[in-house]
Amino acid sequence: MSEPTLAEAPGRPGDRGTMDATTGIPPAVTEETETFWAAAREGRLVVEGCSSCGAESFPPRGICRSCRGRAMIPVEIAGRGVIYSCTVNYQRWLPDLEVPYAIVLVEFPGHPGVRVAGRLRGCPPEAAAIGMAVEVGFEPGPGGFAIPSFVAAG
Ligand SMILES: [Zn+2]
Repeated sequence: MSEPTLAEAPGRPGDRGTMDATTGIPPAVTEETETFWAAAREGRLVVEGCSSCGAESFPPRGICRSCRGRAMIPVEIAGRGVIYSCTVNYQRWLPDLEVPYAIVLVEFPGHPGVRVAGRLRGCPPEAAAIGMAVEVGFEPGPGGFAIPSFVAAG
């Protein structure tokens, strides 16, 4: 299997964090989510936008949560996010899983309806706090997928 080429997190060149996130269950790619995973492999965060009403949503489901329209188009999100919620996982769900680590749920200014979950890396888990500014990056995940994660913006 070839190593996926991943973009580094903005502002933190060379920093992939101290943890290995490849332990876990690979995502099940569907018709609705394949655009997201393809963009992730290029280091880009892409969500769904409704071509009828403009509402954005994540995760992609192929249907607008606002108007039930099905004409969804990819919308790329750039720039900082803000932690909406966070938790620290201490449970070793799998034998090779490194714990503890923080999981954060992140909102993006100008993109209501979109919240993306991922690990917080580059700082101790207990540093995660609601309202903290973060930048999205991608790191190698299970099955060779690039999965979103976050680093403190600064
Ligand atoms: Zn809509």
